[in-house]
Amino acid sequence: MSVNGHFANMGEKPTKEQYEHGIQVINENQEFNPTLPNYLSFEKVSPAGFNYHLISVFGSQSTGKSTLLNYLFGTEFGVMSEDDRRQTTKGIWMSKNKKSHAITDSKKMAENILVMDVEGTDGRERGEDQDFERKSALFALATSEVLIVNIWEHQVGLYQGANMGLLKVVFEVNLELFLKDKKSNPRSLLFFVIRDHLGTTPLANLRNTLVQDLSRIWSGLNKPPGLEKSKIEDYFDFAFAALPHKILQPDRFVSEVEKLGTRFREGFRDPRRDAFKNDQDSDGVFLSEYHRRIPADGFSIYAQQVWDQIVNNKDLDLPTQQELMAQFRCDEISREVLEGFDETITPFESKQAEGIRLGQPEVLGGLGAAMRTARMKTIKAFETEASRYHKGVYIRKKGELESKIDGRLKVLFQGQLSAAHKSGVTSFSDAVSAAVKAGQKKGASYDFAVIVDREKKNALSKYDKEARGVVVEGAPWSNYKQEMSLFHKDLNEVSGRLRREEMRRLATRVERWVRSRLGESVGLEFNALGSGRGGSGAPETGERGGESEIWDRIWSVFIKTVQEAERRFTERAKSFDASSGEVDVGLWRLRRKSWGVLRAKIEEEMMEGNLLLKLRENFEDKFRYDEAGVPRIWRPTDDIEGIYTKARESTLTLIPLLSRFQSSHTSTPPPLDDWIGNPPAEATPADEEDLTPIGGVDEEEGKSLEEEMLILSDAKRQDVTTRFKKTADGVYVEAKRSAIGGMTQ
Ligand code: GDP
Ligand code: MG
Repeated sequence: MSVNGHFANMGEKPTKEQYEHGIQVINENQEFNPTLPNYLSFEKVSPAGFNYHLISVFGSQSTGKSTLLNYLFGTEFGVMSEDDRRQTTKGIWMSKNKKSHAITDSKKMAENILVMDVEGTDGRERGEDQDFERKSALFALATSEVLIVNIWEHQVGLYQGANMGLLKVVFEVNLELFLKDKKSNPRSLLFFVIRDHLGTTPLANLRNTLVQDLSRIWSGLNKPPGLEKSKIEDYFDFAFAALPHKILQPDRFVSEVEKLGTRFREGFRDPRRDAFKNDQDSDGVFLSEYHRRIPADGFSIYAQQVWDQIVNNKDLDLPTQQELMAQFRCDEISREVLEGFDETITPFESKQAEGIRLGQPEVLGGLGAAMRTARMKTIKAFETEASRYHKGVYIRKKGELESKIDGRLKVLFQGQLSAAHKSGVTSFSDAVSAAVKAGQKKGASYDFAVIVDREKKNALSKYDKEARGVVVEGAPWSNYKQEMSLFHKDLNEVSGRLRREEMRRLATRVERWVRSRLGESVGLEFNALGSGRGGSGAPETGERGGESEIWDRIWSVFIKTVQEAERRFTERAKSFDASSGEVDVGLWRLRRKSWGVLRAKIEEEMMEGNLLLKLRENFEDKFRYDEAGVPRIWRPTDDIEGIYTKARESTLTLIPLLSRFQSSHTSTPPPLDDWIGNPPAEATPADEEDLTPIGGVDEEEGKSLEEEMLILSDAKRQDVTTRFKKTADGVYVEAKRSAIGGMTQ
């Protein structure tokens, strides 16, 4: 006996009194009784091998279950007393059959029948807690060969009253937990015993009603995968019996129970008999196929394992059974519909990944349509299949599925956008360059700003089209506004870069123009030195100043030339939307580069060979020609030496003059530093990188403006002077000779 819900020690010696009412297999605390083996050996069932049977009873509270069992099997399960209506059976009790009900030898009851009495199942006493009822009913169903379903006649056809709801849950869980393996599944007999049968409705009619109810219950079950098509008769046989009212017809009750008792013997399946027509009085109920094939001495362990499985199975917790089934099915449906999704989407995913791996993201054709169809179909298929399961679970699982597919579609979407971005930027840049090149080829002046504007519009509309192509209506991620504005920003950046390139090209063209103009005009200045007429300090002839003002002229022509170049540059640069800062930088660079051009031109002219030639020409001009420009014929009487000295001295003044680029008036260098000006604020390091440093302008150069303007070093001057003098001497000697020669002739 249990004391305060705790089981007696296993070691205790069993007594007859102790097992008077059988044994409580499971107590109200849902604990399995570890002393069950003691009882089975006390009742001498343990050594019986397979020769034993298990029966349970199932039904509403106070429907006379315990009473029936006690009459049928001579057990002494607690019965509610007629005046004190309280629930008596707690948990699950087991007792061995004490009767034989033998009418003849052939109708002798089977040996070793173990009967389990299960707590009533309408939970009146336990309030809302149906948990234990489910568990105990499930335990009875899972272990017993015969389950007596005890039911009042007036309950037949009443879903709730007949506890059909409980049956449904128990069937469902039984299927889920114990009957998955179809090959090894044991059958059981559901033996409906209809109580207080008045006799007005024949048993056959009651039976039909019950069969219909059962079929309805079965078809409404959530069946585990693979068992969707299973039928109730795959797992159960059915038997039906009716008993008269125990109080009103006590004698008939006893005799009918007696008769019923005779059916609890070994039986054989009649092949003509179907699962629902198992109600012939003559049929024994214990078919060998109902037996669990557990040897009697192993039954305790087996029953305990079954109980543990039931108790530890969280799925049995009350409201969740439907939900668990729904979860299971929804997950499965999810997997199924994802297969179709994969079929369509995976190829795109691989292709996109491959493109990214190779660094050549590709805009995938047909992606948008595939995404839309796949998403729509997948969700639709899920809805169709899964919506009939538990609503809450269905909605949650649908959400999970959506976020799963949306996660993948979003990656594809983003991938497509970034491919469109990358290719869009590249083709924009290419298109602008190509249009510029074509414009240059034609020689016509092309409008860079117009080209950029046009190509930008093209690029944006292409991007928009590609992005719109992969928009999936209704998907929360399906928006590319931000990406589009990033694309726009990148196009602006690229066009900025292209414009700067275009500025460089323009600068190069303008510099080339400066070089050619300066080459010409400065060349002319130096060439003019060759004709020494006018000489140093002589009055100016024509528009040109004298030799002494050569640098003034060169500076002024330089300034004018660059001014013109600046005007051209500014005008052109403005036409393609260059900012004033960019223009300032360009102009600043242009002035510096132009100075470089001039400096190079002067250096070229002042190369020793060129310079000596100029000096010689200058000298010869002064020596060989008179003031009127008529060539002199030397006569011995001529003051050759005087003229020579004068011409030579005049030419020699050129050397210091040419040595320094300076104003003839102030003898100071031209204001190159002021003229070039400070680098504009907008100038970047890149803008200064390729510039040659200029003395007096760039402090780091460590050179003064005077040094920058030094054309001939002292040593060079010395050298040139000496060499020029020698040349002049040669000319003089030749003249002298020709004078003498002319005389002798
Ligand atoms: P259990 O809770 O289903 O085990 O029901 P009990 O066996 O404890 O019986 C509950 C009450 O029903 C008791 O007062 C019994 O006397 C009474 N009872 C038992 N059998 C019958 C029956 O066949 N007909 C009617 N009307 N009452 C019964
Ligand atoms: Mg009872």
